[in-house]
Amino acid sequence: MFDPMDPWMYEICFPGAISGEAEVNCPQCGTTLTVAVDDPMGSQTYRCSQCETVFRVNWGQ
Ligand SMILES: [Zn+2]
Repeated sequence: MFDPMDPWMYEICFPGAISGEAEVNCPQCGTTLTVAVDDPMGSQTYRCSQCETVFRVNWGQ
């Protein structure tokens, strides 16, 4: 399911974010990233600064 050769996007859920910024852990390498939260009820896509994995965080559900 987590084939690194597949451009599949990780989707992780961090419910309860508030507007501003939040810390999430990269699903690939576990690095803690501080990310901007524009829509605490929606989802956003981020890129890990360490391994460049692209993942989407679902804040609201
Ligand atoms: Zn990473």
